[in-house]
Amino acid sequence: MKIYEKAPAKINLMLDVLHKREDGYHEVEMIMTMVDLADRLEMSTLPRDTIIISSQAGYIPLDEKNLAFQAARLIKDRYNVSKGVYIHLDKNIPVAAGLAGGSSDAAATLRGLNRLWELDIPVEELKALGAELGSDVPFCVTGGTALATGRGEKLTPLPNPPQCWVVLAKLPINVSTAEVYGRLRSSRITHHPSANTMIEAIESGSFSSVCEGLGNVLEDVTLQLHPEVAHLKEAMLKLGADGVLMSGSGPTVFGLVSKESKVSRIYNGLRGFCKEVYAVRLLTRG
Ligand code: ATP
Repeated sequence: MKIYEKAPAKINLMLDVLHKREDGYHEVEMIMTMVDLADRLEMSTLPRDTIIISSQAGYIPLDEKNLAFQAARLIKDRYNVSKGVYIHLDKNIPVAAGLAGGSSDAAATLRGLNRLWELDIPVEELKALGAELGSDVPFCVTGGTALATGRGEKLTPLPNPPQCWVVLAKLPINVSTAEVYGRLRSSRITHHPSANTMIEAIESGSFSSVCEGLGNVLEDVTLQLHPEVAHLKEAMLKLGADGVLMSGSGPTVFGLVSKESKVSRIYNGLRGFCKEVYAVRLLTRG
């Protein structure tokens, strides 16, 4: 039997860092939502006690460094599953881009193996397993839109934001999440975006308020390291995006666009100097 799981990319509508904790993690406040740009995972049971990962993408690890591998091993160990699994990752989300591609693959693996092996693990337990793999994994287990606090693992579900187009663009530069957090001095942050303002914007269904409330304190660090990301933001705004922000630690920049008629202009304008551009919809629930 083969089963399939979709692993969508996430964007941060706001990301604030409150302070660095004693355990070395940062205390964050983030509002995350998903977009319709997704990896696809195919999973099937192997009779041998082994985990095999394959992918058409030549640039991700296929061994125990792969987050899907780690998710499969965690579930096998914790629930004493002696069967093996073959996982094919059809990778569409840009890697190391601030879109949580690896975390979403790990979450999809947890959901998929729960179904494939009929383990009946409740969703809260899947999220707790996910937290062992990475701070963004619990959110990716359920998706939707949520406020994430703590190191990102404490989740409060939120309603769908107003539907819109999302244009994503990633320059060919590598940003290390660890380096960005390492360079951030939380005491020197001058402007903290407000989670409450964004929650009110979402709850009121006001697209313009969502655009106004966008904010990410990691932008200062990444834009200083890579000024071309700032240029990309400016270009997106000039081309007509209603609100523009860097996702996570970058380098992907996304633009929210309400009118479909503007999307192709922005997409084509960006394609002139950026190879990786995507125009997708928000992935709303229900
Ligand atoms: P986040 O937004 O959670 O910080 P990201 O989008 O910046 O994540 P990922 O695409 O998850 O970053 O990749 C980060 C690193 O993880 C890469 O260097 C990659 O080699 C490794 N990795 C491990 N497993 C995967 C996977 N399944 N897909 C993509 N990258 C993976």
